[in-house]
Amino acid sequence: MSRKAIYAGSFDPITNGHIDIVNRALHLFDEIKIAIIHNANKIALFSIDERILLVSTVFKDNPKISVEGFDGLLVDYAYQKNIYTLIRGLRAVSDFDYEFQMALMNRRLQPKIDTIFLMTDQQYAYLSSSLVKQIARHKADISALVPDVVQDALTGKIG
Ligand code: ADP
Repeated sequence: MSRKAIYAGSFDPITNGHIDIVNRALHLFDEIKIAIIHNANKIALFSIDERILLVSTVFKDNPKISVEGFDGLLVDYAYQKNIYTLIRGLRAVSDFDYEFQMALMNRRLQPKIDTIFLMTDQQYAYLSSSLVKQIARHKADISALVPDVVQDALTGKIG
């Protein structure tokens, strides 16, 4: 049986920190579904289709990874897909409270679901999509933080 997991988030846009988590998860799972949240409360810079396209482009050579947008509760989506493992990335301790709350709530909503936390590489511990967007707005160098395709897309959006 193939081991599958879902890695969900806004990915607005995908960064090298997200990619690091996916690469770590590939050691543990045969298939990873990257699920991009459609209707998060946050106002996104990139549309859902743009975010799906960016993530798909980054992983285009890896058949173990699929990319989809989703709406609604993550646990419902996971259940529909028959996937009961969620992956989340942890950066600093500050991520922990929120992640702990989410993991326990998701388990309460759907007891079969478990969340696996993977620790990011130190060099990405301070990296977030929102910081990347801020830095890009000020035209500073983001080449070490995101793949080229994302850098180009940010330049296209922000100028
Ligand atoms: P959110 O779900 O809060 O919108 P994101 O879409 O940015 O967050 O991230 C999805 C997942 O990726 C979360 O588990 C988040 O902790 C993780 N993540 C984000 N940036 C990094 C990073 N630099 N290193 C490791 N994990 C990260």
